[in-house]
Amino acid sequence: MTTKLFDLKGKVAIVTGGNGGIGLGMARGLADAGADIAVVGRNAAKSKEAAADLASRGVTAIAIETDVTDKGAVAAMTDRVIRELGRIDILVNNAGINIRKPPHQLEISEWDSVISTNLTSAFLCSKAVHPAMKQAGGGKIINIGSMMSIFGASFTPAYAASKGGIVQFTRSCACAWAADNIQANAILPGWIDTDLTKRARKEVDGLHERVLVRTPAARWGAIGDFAGIAVFLASPASDFLTGTAIPVDGGFSIQG
Ligand code: NDP
Repeated sequence: MTTKLFDLKGKVAIVTGGNGGIGLGMARGLADAGADIAVVGRNAAKSKEAAADLASRGVTAIAIETDVTDKGAVAAMTDRVIRELGRIDILVNNAGINIRKPPHQLEISEWDSVISTNLTSAFLCSKAVHPAMKQAGGGKIINIGSMMSIFGASFTPAYAASKGGIVQFTRSCACAWAADNIQANAILPGWIDTDLTKRARKEVDGLHERVLVRTPAARWGAIGDFAGIAVFLASPASDFLTGTAIPVDGGFSIQG
């Protein structure tokens, strides 16, 4: 019973930004549970390497070079997944960037770039996979928010707006597509050691120590911390769970 609850054999997952960081951590979890994976990112070499890593776990994994802010590229990507892997059951909207500046210094081009990468891309990809999921009789959408879905910070206005937006977008999809047996949920990572935060640690004075003090688990998260939640939200174990936003943060968001 337990194995079936978390079994993803025969399922196909798209993971945007699956070529590194949290996306790769989730893709490894999904592959270990049996899902075939399409790794989607702009950096073709990095995506190819990630696909080889996933394939070594005994599943089929392909790398698709795609800019997820581009509607045409997203349509071509989903067509290719159906052509090469046969179906789409799981979409992980994980691609993301940040530009750290206070609102009065942020250019409109920078605002647009963060919003389109972190939020509009989730809309484009979700809309693109909806027909395939509906036809298959159901599906799972997993959107990646942030602690900035809950809190504010002076240096991250566009990022926080995009990550607040992703939670509301998740709820809208959950309502709209429940009748199609599609569950949509968000994960809100705490502070995780990836390329994105390596830069943050350089750019934001004292960040490393502040995270350690504020996080009850007293450590930064690792990408492997996202394998379990990805499998849970992608599998039958979460069939009655939809529209939620689950912190995976070592307790960062509950420490008073
Ligand atoms: P990384 O920088 O390691 O990963 C970001 C991924 O997004 C890369 O794989 C990148 O691939 C992809 N990406 C960026 N822009 C595009 C684009 N236009 N089209 C396609 N792919 C794109 O960072 P993380 O693993 O840390 O971040 C993953 C997600 O987790 C992001 O949404 C981030 O906001 C979120 N997050 C991270 C936290 C952390 O502490 N690390 C905390 C909270 C949330 P490529 O360059 O090949 O395009």
